[in-house]
Amino acid sequence: SPQTKPVVVIDAHDLPYLNPKLPVQKRVDDLLARMTLAEKVGQMTQAERNALKSRSDIATYALGSLLSGGGSVPTPNTPASWAAMIDNFQLSAQATRLQIPLIYGVDAVHGHNNVIGATILPHNIGLGSTRDPDLARRTGEVTATEVRATGVPWDFAPCVCVVRDDRWGRAYEGYGEDPALVNSMSTVITGMQGKADGSQLKNKDRVLASAKHYAGDGGTAYGSATTGGYKLDQGITKVTREELERLHLAPFQTAVDLGVGTVMPSFSSMSIDGATPVKMHGNDELINGVLKQRMGFDGFVISDWAAIDQLPGDYVSDIRTSINAGLDMIMVPSRYVEFTQGLTNEIGAGRVTVARVDDAVRRILGEKFKLGLFENPYSDPTQLNTVGSAKHRAVGREAAAKSQVLLKNEGNLLPLASTSKVYVAGSNANDLGNQLGGWSITWQGKSGPTTTGTTILDGIKQVVPTATFSADATAPLEGHDVGVVVVGERPYAEGVGDVGNGHDQVLAPADKAAVDKVCGAMKCVVLTVSGRPQVVADQLGKINALVASWLPGTEGAGVADVLFGKKPFSGRLPVSWPKSEAQEPINVGDASYDPQYPYGWGLTTQAAARQKLTDARNALLRKHDAYALAAAVAAEIALQTKDWSGPKAIIALAALEQSAKYLERTKVDGFAEDDAVVGAARWIAQNKIGQNLTEPTSKLTSDSEHLALSGQLHTAVTKLTAAFKTK
Ligand code: BGC
Repeated sequence: SPQTKPVVVIDAHDLPYLNPKLPVQKRVDDLLARMTLAEKVGQMTQAERNALKSRSDIATYALGSLLSGGGSVPTPNTPASWAAMIDNFQLSAQATRLQIPLIYGVDAVHGHNNVIGATILPHNIGLGSTRDPDLARRTGEVTATEVRATGVPWDFAPCVCVVRDDRWGRAYEGYGEDPALVNSMSTVITGMQGKADGSQLKNKDRVLASAKHYAGDGGTAYGSATTGGYKLDQGITKVTREELERLHLAPFQTAVDLGVGTVMPSFSSMSIDGATPVKMHGNDELINGVLKQRMGFDGFVISDWAAIDQLPGDYVSDIRTSINAGLDMIMVPSRYVEFTQGLTNEIGAGRVTVARVDDAVRRILGEKFKLGLFENPYSDPTQLNTVGSAKHRAVGREAAAKSQVLLKNEGNLLPLASTSKVYVAGSNANDLGNQLGGWSITWQGKSGPTTTGTTILDGIKQVVPTATFSADATAPLEGHDVGVVVVGERPYAEGVGDVGNGHDQVLAPADKAAVDKVCGAMKCVVLTVSGRPQVVADQLGKINALVASWLPGTEGAGVADVLFGKKPFSGRLPVSWPKSEAQEPINVGDASYDPQYPYGWGLTTQAAARQKLTDARNALLRKHDAYALAAAVAAEIALQTKDWSGPKAIIALAALEQSAKYLERTKVDGFAEDDAVVGAARWIAQNKIGQNLTEPTSKLTSDSEHLALSGQLHTAVTKLTAAFKTK
């Protein structure tokens, strides 16, 4: 039944800040000039909805924001009750003197993951595997549309962490270990917010994003907490200035350039060049200095959950230090009385300036105006049916399929024939909660059928209805052609992961036993459903095909799509896959790099390779196409070596990526495209075989010049191939 809108009595009407025709800055100026100090302090305060002692506290403390922490859900947990809950909070805000709407925030880190029935997408590690920025953008749109439909205008996502140690319990929240990969997937911000100038934020299908956790959350040093070492989560990031810039700051510059509305600092501390670690929540140099001044971030900085409490000193000094370091809004999340009093006193004593407060409030109000919250503070009931819609689930299924990384495919076992007699086993074959991972319905996530979706087994059964399923592989094994064993981790969020279940990056004993049994009896495919690489070195000899499935979300059918060849395998490793946990941290570029599978590894099936070659040849027929030339390199490599696996595929795809980048930069028209061609070719030659292509004297304008370049490429290809043969 359609929701009835709360009735609003506008008493602030006719005031300039309520006029949507005025520019945002004018509205901000007008409103700020009308605000009392208490109202300003309130805007800087974010409380958890369960921590509110009374609904009237929204008005009493003039609160600027509320959030639902992980798993803080209404009863029943339906899209409609989310919308009703948030509309009711807004109603309280509308009853205040200036009627400043609340900005409500949630962690929708892979779809609207708190809500039963929503589309839950693969976690970011899977999206990183797709190497598909356009897909990342579309997943951002799915998330934004479903989140906004329930009355929530703000999402604490994406995590643009660069994951340097997979033992970190948040490894799956990141897109990978390489900042260039993280940068390329930041298109998710565009999907969420629309144009970088914020002009689309008021639309029904957009939300404000939050790039987190600034900075270095994925680079904290490892050590045992019990031995007085450093914690991987919320610990100390020890870097050189160069590493800080290259690894951890770069993705935030990208996010700022894409117009990200908010940034959340990391719980961790930063130690640069061996200096004393400074908590990021009090890091004046990196927040005021780098993020706001140098990078030009003009949105607002929201603290992490009670994170200022971890600063040295008492709470009043925590407030002073964090606000003066450039934080604009504090996720208290329950200490709103102490926080508002403390901040008011500090301002009174001159230890926090009114100018700083005004700057913070301007930033917050600016985003609220852009979101159109003053005009439309309430949810739009006509949007509720977008939550979990077939259209969105189709994007989830596509993302699940594209995120699958084929690590091994002995004897071309994959793709499987739909006529195969399939035996399915393993703890993660038929467990929706496990394939969602953490941040799913509950904060930590939970095993079992926690929401609506297809498990990997469901997907397999859609193709092979007669498939046998026995998780622990106790059902008779004979009479089957192929085994599919789905192993991996149980859900977790934050901290250090699944260690509580008796295993970390190694397989659980029951999963190991299932692999041994099934792979001992028939040809087998092993799928790892996990937030990070699983060490399989000991089992690898008996596994014919190995797939990293990551945490594919509610659309398990997408996994079956690649298993049975409905779609090609195209995923590539976003992190290095170790031979043993002792190799962690392991990252491409390490001095002694000896992984089980390198960063970027990902096989494709023969049929898919053949298709790629055909595409490349067809593309070649269309001249002036940088993709075509890069693809031609790929095709040549594949043809000359009669093989399409591992390193060759990596080079080929790197070439494609690089040429795509040049194309983006040069806007694909006229001669610019020729530059793109040359750029891509030169990059391939220089970076992969150390050969410098001759600088063309002018832009390529004729067929003969194209041919000349093509000739150089062929030489490059020959050398490249020879280089591979000697390895
Ligand atoms: C996490 C953040 C999250 C916040 C609010 C914190 O514990 O570190 O990523 O946005 O909680 O739920």
